[in-house]
Amino acid sequence: MLLYASHLLNPRRAPVAEAALWIQGDRVRYAGPRADLPEEAKKERQSLDLGEAVVAPGLVDAHAHLELTALKGLPYPGEFVGWIRAVLGAKQALEPQRQDQEMHEGVLRLLRGGATCVGDHLSVASNPESLLRSPLRGKAFVEVLGVVPEVAADMARAAELFAEQWGRVPSRLEIVPSPHSVHALAPEVLKRLLQDPSRVHSVHLAESEAERRYFADKCGTLHDFIAERGNPLRREAESSIAELEAAGVLDARILAVHGNYLSDAEIRLLASRGISLVHCPFSHQYFGHRPFPMAACRAAGLNLALGTDSLASAETLSMFEVLRKTHANFPELGRDEIFVMATLGGAKALGLEAEIGSLTPGKKADLIAVSAAETPLDSVFAAKRVDFAMIDGEILTGF
Ligand SMILES: [Zn+2]
Repeated sequence: MLLYASHLLNPRRAPVAEAALWIQGDRVRYAGPRADLPEEAKKERQSLDLGEAVVAPGLVDAHAHLELTALKGLPYPGEFVGWIRAVLGAKQALEPQRQDQEMHEGVLRLLRGGATCVGDHLSVASNPESLLRSPLRGKAFVEVLGVVPEVAADMARAAELFAEQWGRVPSRLEIVPSPHSVHALAPEVLKRLLQDPSRVHSVHLAESEAERRYFADKCGTLHDFIAERGNPLRREAESSIAELEAAGVLDARILAVHGNYLSDAEIRLLASRGISLVHCPFSHQYFGHRPFPMAACRAAGLNLALGTDSLASAETLSMFEVLRKTHANFPELGRDEIFVMATLGGAKALGLEAEIGSLTPGKKADLIAVSAAETPLDSVFAAKRVDFAMIDGEILTGF
């Protein structure tokens, strides 16, 4: 089909006015000025003119927990481990049916907020059906946790089984068993999971002061919490990154989530290994973490992506809001750079850069359109919700 719009916005490219896209099946064949549309494209019978609108690649939400959508508005108890306890308690009290409905609501919120792709974390006990049957593309990371080796090994098996069973549901999301974090998983199981060469694993890393103290000082609330759960053993490494490095698994198969407490040297190490990092500005604010080390990440050339995180620690699942928040927090970043993080940056973080992240010939026709404002970038940064969205060349409806 042919899609016309007043503007096309691609990351790292000048916007195109009077734009046209030629979409064949699920892929983009041409994206550029309408005047340069190839002759062959003019034989297309189906066309749609979006008028005064900006067409852009669908945004990538590189970190979410849609199963926690029902926990929206959870008050912060003032301490990170206290929050983990509150989440566990609230999840236990939740009716499964309500959790499923709210996960569906979370999917809708993501779509309205401009995302067409997500890196979502799930627990093995969750019902991922509404996510898998949604139009969203991406990865569903099934969390493996367990500080007692036998418990961790059982959960790794359960996660593989989950991936096998739910993998039969036709979906644009790949299910990937993934370590929740370094501190929450027994070292031998952590290492084994990360040795799988074919997959990107999403791992919470250097997220909190409690985690920093657990490794660096061998004490604190996270240490006590882990001891309570049956493993008072202290990790030898000084940080989660140091443990991954010592285990020989610190490489591009890891998608690092949060990284609020990374040292400058660790940031350079991650960059040198081709590891991507997801920043979630709303949950960063909720927890009152130390300032995110944006300058060090940029100086190191680390690939940065953006995420919403869950409504148990963030006030929105809209990537438009995430764009605005990131710009407000880091005015030194150009909006074009932030737009790259939410498109190509996220695509690379999820190992999908060959397929999505820009509207260029050969890539998937995953796109959004918003009302045109002063400039194309203004339009995306000012958007409240998408006016039009397409994934795999299919126009989305009902959201
Ligand atoms: Zn998370």
